[in-house]
Amino acid sequence: MPSPSKTVLVTGGAGYIGSHAAKMLAKSGYEPVVYDNLTRGHEWAVRWGPLVVGDIGDADLLAHTIKHHNIGAILHFAALAYVGESVTNPELYFENNVVKSLTLLKTAWQAGVKHIVFSSTCATYGSPEILPITERERQRPINPYGETKLCVERALHWYDMAHGTTSVALRYFNAAGGDLDGEIGEAHSPETHLIPLVFDAAQGGKPIAIFGTDYDTPDGTCIRDYIHVTDLADAHVKALHYLREDGPSTALNLGTGQGYSVKEILASVEAVTGRPVPHRIAERRPGDPPSLVADPSLANETLRWKPECSDIETIVRSGWHWHRTRNAAGHVDPTGA
Ligand code: UDP
Repeated sequence: MPSPSKTVLVTGGAGYIGSHAAKMLAKSGYEPVVYDNLTRGHEWAVRWGPLVVGDIGDADLLAHTIKHHNIGAILHFAALAYVGESVTNPELYFENNVVKSLTLLKTAWQAGVKHIVFSSTCATYGSPEILPITERERQRPINPYGETKLCVERALHWYDMAHGTTSVALRYFNAAGGDLDGEIGEAHSPETHLIPLVFDAAQGGKPIAIFGTDYDTPDGTCIRDYIHVTDLADAHVKALHYLREDGPSTALNLGTGQGYSVKEILASVEAVTGRPVPHRIAERRPGDPPSLVADPSLANETLRWKPECSDIETIVRSGWHWHRTRNAAGHVDPTGA
C-alpha cells in the first residue's frame, strides 16, 4: 500500500501550540495546512504552509480542504482553552470543543483520513490525589474545559473501534515558553496564564496576583509542571510518525515530571530578567488543583520523546525574549494581551 500523504491538516494551527507544531512538521518533512477560524489564532503565526480560514464546524469546507490538499493526517488543536471561561460559559465550550470536533471526526473519517493527533489536557484528570499522574489515573474533570477534551478522547476511542481511525491523545501539562528562534510565541487575548502575566508585571504592568498561598504545598502556592511549547510540538510530530508506523491508539502525558510553585516561577523570572516582580496575594482561583505533575514515562517510551528545552530557565528565557519582541513587533491584539 502506498504510504499516506505527508500533507497534514493542522486545525488551530494559528494558535500558540498549533503554530509551533506547524513549524516542527515543516522542519520534519511534512507539509502543514493550517485550518483556523482566526477567532483566537493569529494570521502572523502561520508561516510554514497555506492557511485555510475556516471553522471546524463547517463540514463542507473541511471536506473540500481535505480533498483539495490530499490530507493524510490531522493534528487537531482547534478549541477554546480558558478554564475560567468554560466554567461560566459551558455551552460555548461544548459547542466549540465537542460538537465541532465531532463534525471534524466524521468528516475526516468519511474522507478516508486514518490518523489523528489530538490536543488533550491534564485537566481531564481533575484533582488527582496521587502524584506524579500516570495515564492510569481516573479521569474526573473538575471544569467544563477538561470535560470537553475528555468527550473528544472518548469519541476517538469509539471511532477507532468502529472505523479503525487511530489516534494519539496528548495530555499536556502547562505549555510555556517561546520558539527558540524567536519567530512565534504565546499571545492570548485576554492573557490569563501565569508566566506571561509575570512578564507583564516585571515590565511595570499590573502586579501579579498570586492565587492562594494556603495550599498544602511546601510554600503554600500551587505547583504545576511546565513544558516547553517546542517539546510539545516535537511530541506531536513523533506521535504522527508513530501512527503512520501503525502504532495503536493511545493517550500520553506530556510533562517533565518536575513541578514548580507559583512563587518559584516568580523567582525564576526575577533571576532571568534581573527585574523585581511586583506581586500581591489574592484569593484562590476556583477550579485550581493544588498540584499537577506528570509522570511522562509512557510518552518517553512510546514516542521515544523526552523534553529537550523544558528546564525552567530555558522556558522563562525564551518566553521573556518573545514577550519583549512581540510587543515591539506589534504582535499584540487590540483587545489587550
Ligand atoms: N496563577 C496565579 N496568578 C495568575 C495566573 C495564574 O497565581 O494571575 C496560578 C494559578 O492559580 C495556577 C498557576 O498559576 O496555580 C498556573 O496557572 P495558569 O493559568 O498559567 O495555568 P493552568 O494551571 O490554569 O492551566
